[in-house]
Amino acid sequence: MDIIRILKDYPLCHRCFGRLYGKLLHTSNYERGKSIKMAKAMELESKLYSLMEKYDNNNDMNKDNDDAADADPNLDSHNNNEEKDIVKKLLKIKEDLYYIRRSGLLEIKGISEEEYPINESIEKNCPWCRSIFNEKNLKEILERVLCLLKDYQYDTFLVGTILPKDIKKLEDEIKTPYMESIRQEFNRVMGRLLLENIAKIVDKQNPDIVIKINPYNKKIELQVNSIFIKGRYRKLIRGIPQTKWPCNHCRGKGCERCNYTGKRYNTSVEEIIAEPFMEVFKGKDESFHGAGREDIDVRMLGKGRPFVLQIKEPKIRKANLEEIKEKINRSGNVEVLNLEYGNKGDVVFFKNEPHRKTYLAVVECEEELSDEELLKVVEKLKNSTINQRTPLRVAHRRADLIRVRKVYDVKVNRIDAKTFELNIHCDGGLYIKELISGDENRTSPSVSEILNKKCKCKTLDVLEVHD
Ligand SMILES: [Zn+2]
Ligand SMILES: [Zn+2]
Repeated sequence: MDIIRILKDYPLCHRCFGRLYGKLLHTSNYERGKSIKMAKAMELESKLYSLMEKYDNNNDMNKDNDDAADADPNLDSHNNNEEKDIVKKLLKIKEDLYYIRRSGLLEIKGISEEEYPINESIEKNCPWCRSIFNEKNLKEILERVLCLLKDYQYDTFLVGTILPKDIKKLEDEIKTPYMESIRQEFNRVMGRLLLENIAKIVDKQNPDIVIKINPYNKKIELQVNSIFIKGRYRKLIRGIPQTKWPCNHCRGKGCERCNYTGKRYNTSVEEIIAEPFMEVFKGKDESFHGAGREDIDVRMLGKGRPFVLQIKEPKIRKANLEEIKEKINRSGNVEVLNLEYGNKGDVVFFKNEPHRKTYLAVVECEEELSDEELLKVVEKLKNSTINQRTPLRVAHRRADLIRVRKVYDVKVNRIDAKTFELNIHCDGGLYIKELISGDENRTSPSVSEILNKKCKCKTLDVLEVHD
C-alpha cells in the first residue's frame, strides 16, 4: 500500500483511511487507519533520525578535513555532494511526515509546527467523509428521521445511504481490494443509532420502510413499501368492469360526458374492494391485480377469482381483515373471501399462471333445437381442441393470432325450445362468447358451427377459477 501517495492527494482522516482496508482484521476503521499511519510515521521518523545523525557526522568530518580540502579540491566537492544528497532525503522524509500529520496524526515528532504549519481543520478537510460522522451531524439526521417515521406503522426498516456523485468518483479513485464503501459504514452507524431509539427490526430483504439518507446534504426520504392483500372475489352483478375504467373522452380528467367523474363506469370491482382497504390502511394509491378478468357483463361466482390488492405507501400495515371483508360484502355487488396478507411474488404468480375455468353460459339459438342437437354439442365439444383467432371485438387491443385452447368437460341443460344452459370446463384464455357464436368462423369448432344454426351467448357467469 502506497500510504504517502494516497495521503498526498487525499488527506483522509483515520476513519476514512482505515476504511480503505475495512475488510481486514476485527477492528474499527478508525483504529485501522491510525495504526497504518503510525507504523508508517515510525518508519519515517527512524529514517529521519539516522539521516540527521549521518548529516551531523558529515559536518564534523568536513571541519576536520578543511585543511586537507585545501590540498585536494576533489575531496571537498565529494563531501558537498553527499551532504546535498542527505539534505534532499531529509526534506523528502519531512514532507512525507507532513502529509501524515496533515491527515490527523498529531503524534508525529520529527517535524515542527513552525516548519510545516497546518491551517485547515483536519476533520472538515477529509475529502471522503467531510465530517458526516460527527456527533452533531448524526444527531440532526437521526432526529429528522424519527420525525418522518412517526407517521407510519412498521415493524422492519433498512437504512439506504445515498452518496453524491463526487464521493462515488472519489471511491473509484482510491479503491483498494479490501475497501468498504462509506455507504456501508453509514448504513451501519445510522442503523445502530436508530435501533437505540426505536424498537424495530432491521430487515435487509424485505423491509417495511427504507430510510434513504444522503448524509452530505442531509436529504432524507422514506420509501414506504407496499402491502399486499390477497383473496378471492365474487362479482354478483353484471355491468361493472373489474378495474377502474377512465372516461374515453377526457381520459380521467372529468368532462360533461362522464358527468365530471372521469370514469366511464360508476364503479368497478377494484373500487368496491379497494376503497375500504384504503380507508383503513391510509395508502397513497393502490393497484388491483386479478388472476385474469371477466367481461363487464359477466358475473364471477362460485369460490371467486383470486386477486391481489397492492396498497402503496400505507401508513397502517396491520388491520382486522375480517372487518374490512364484512364492509365490502355489505355492498351486495361484490364479495371477498379468503383474505390474507400476501407479498410482491403473488402479483407475478397471478399474471403468469393460466388458470382453468368453469363457465355457465345461457345460449340462445335463432331456431328451435332438438334433444339430439343438444347432445351433439356435448359430444363434439367435450375434450376438444379449439382454434380461436383473436375475436373481432378485442382485435383493436390484442395481437391478431390464433390461440389453441382445450375444452375438458361440457354439460347442457335445456331452458326452452331455443335456449339452453352450457356448462364448460376449459383452459384459461378461451373466449366463451366466440366459442358459442363462432365469431364469423374465426373460432372453430363453435356451437353455431356444430349445430349449423346461429347461436349467441345471452348471459355468462364464471363459476370457478381453478387453482
Ligand atoms: Zn474522513
Ligand atoms: Zn369524461
